[in-house]
Amino acid sequence: MLVLGDRLPVIKGQIVPGVAIDDARRAVVTLRRLDVPIAGLIEDMTGFVCDGCGREHNLFGRGGVKRWAREIDIPFLAAVPFEPAARTGGDGGRPIALDLASPAGRALRNAAEAMHHHLVPTPGRAAS
Ligand SMILES: [Zn+2]
Repeated sequence: MLVLGDRLPVIKGQIVPGVAIDDARRAVVTLRRLDVPIAGLIEDMTGFVCDGCGREHNLFGRGGVKRWAREIDIPFLAAVPFEPAARTGGDGGRPIALDLASPAGRALRNAAEAMHHHLVPTPGRAAS
């Protein structure tokens, strides 16, 4: 979970691992009780493109966070597939979001853009 609401009024997000939805449910209840806006939910570890067979395997299910986001009226930002390069890139100081060929990187960039549009008003956007 990522909450930077107290000191940085612009960024308020939540990352939900597929295996920890109960923790995420408690976090949403707590954040709502504290009146902390939630920019959206991200389903993490959604699918794994197997280097053995080339097919995508859903290790922790798929779509549960999206359905839940709809139920509780919070924007669904992204489903981020599992990629070992996310860990190695993070450990090496090059976040996967910078990798233009990575599906996980693409999902994270899309989520960041969705949060940006949600949180930062764009002058003239309402008129277009
Ligand atoms: Zn496989």
